[in-house]
Amino acid sequence: MDTEGDAMDIDLDLTLTDEMLAIRESCHRFAEEVMRPLAAKLDRMDPEAVIAKDSPLWEGLEKYKALGLVGMPECYGDDLSPAQRTLMHSIVCEELAWGDVGLFITYALYNMAPGIAKAYGRPDLVEFFRQRNEICCLALTEPNHGSDMVAFPDASFRDPKGRSDLRARRDGDDFILNGQKAAWVSTGTIAGSGIVFATYENSKQGRADGAVFLMPFDLPGVSRGKPLDKLGQRTLNQGEIFFDNVRVPRQFFLMDGPDVYPHVLGATLRDANIAMGQQFIGVARAAYEHALAYAKERVQGGVPIIQHQAVKLRLFNMFSKLTAARSHVRRIAMANAAKEGGVPFPYAATAKIVSTQTCLDIAHEAITLFGGYGLCREYPVEKLFRDARASLIEDGENTMLALMSVSHF
Ligand SMILES: Cc1cc2nc3c(=O)[nH]c(=O)nc-3n(C[C@H](O)[C@H](O)[C@H](O)COP(=O)(O)OP(=O)(O)OC[C@H]3O[C@@H](n4cnc5c(N)ncnc54)[C@H](O)[C@@H]3O)c2cc1C
Repeated sequence: MDTEGDAMDIDLDLTLTDEMLAIRESCHRFAEEVMRPLAAKLDRMDPEAVIAKDSPLWEGLEKYKALGLVGMPECYGDDLSPAQRTLMHSIVCEELAWGDVGLFITYALYNMAPGIAKAYGRPDLVEFFRQRNEICCLALTEPNHGSDMVAFPDASFRDPKGRSDLRARRDGDDFILNGQKAAWVSTGTIAGSGIVFATYENSKQGRADGAVFLMPFDLPGVSRGKPLDKLGQRTLNQGEIFFDNVRVPRQFFLMDGPDVYPHVLGATLRDANIAMGQQFIGVARAAYEHALAYAKERVQGGVPIIQHQAVKLRLFNMFSKLTAARSHVRRIAMANAAKEGGVPFPYAATAKIVSTQTCLDIAHEAITLFGGYGLCREYPVEKLFRDARASLIEDGENTMLALMSVSHF
């Protein structure tokens, strides 16, 4: 009998080139040797200390830069086809989020602004932000508008009485911004720049008449709130951004108007949802692998618990859910990259919802398989469970994403 295919490290991605395998390997090593120990430390620290000047977060960032992945997915080399590049990106996201998802998001936002500028066809801004070498952020959510921002297809979005917490007005060639973004903006405390969504003060179409800026945050009038102290993904720092009569030169304006703004918002959420899907496969895999290793070690009833039939079935269910979710997410990511204008929003929502829900289910099951130790901080699965729990709300609460998807049907 040919048993070659029986090994569990079988690679389903049979098309990976030597170069792609090498990138995967170096990501895995970085995740294991740098991200996991660093995340275990940062997870227990006060959020203020996580971003302090002497925090090990910054040493980790320097090591991430040395990995050569800044500006992903452009950085994977010129030899890859578009499909290979997208597959490579899914693999990189999985490996690094397997290390720690909060750190991955933080580090992936480093020098993200030039990529955004390129996507918007703005070579001048590519150059401007490339020289700044800083962490970027996506400033969308507002204190009074969380799910409301996800509800871009909803009639309420165009309600003339609707008012945004961050408002823009034109002043000659410039724009004046007043108001704030919510404490939920990832890296809002440390980002040097951000893609910022604001609604016009005199809008007759509620929150639909807005403008998008890719702007530096060292303009006069920008200030930050205190870092958020939250349940999971504690390595990902978050906080408010305040705008007090901030004069934004036209150079940093990307687009505006009620016909375009909701679509740009939708496209941003679509890509963010696919990225979330790619990342949380890595967290799910980490939880599954910890559970499997523990089940082989932990002896109850005189045998390792993996020998009990119920445990075998539970491990298989975890493996099966993980494999199915990974395939789904990669399929959607591939289609989104290949299709002009991207996939319709509901497909992207499935990538995020399937991945994050699978991740939570697997992390939950991993805790059960660890028994009481699953609840202890000395063991890794309680952190993964907390990280997974946050993902169901991140970049659109899953129920809300589902509801907004149906409005496209
Ligand atoms: C870890 C993390 C990272 C994040 N990163 C970012 C970021 O980088 N940038 C950014 O801009 N935002 C970010 N967010 C914010 C995130 O997108 C919002 O938290 C999310 O959209 C939900 O908004 P909310 O928290 O205000 O909840 P609410 O909108 O107040 O929702 C509360 C509850 O009411 C339900 N609900 C609300 N409206 C409806 C409706 N119309 N129909 C049915 N149910 C409804 C929701 O489903 C939810 O269960 C992040 C959030 C988390 C948790």
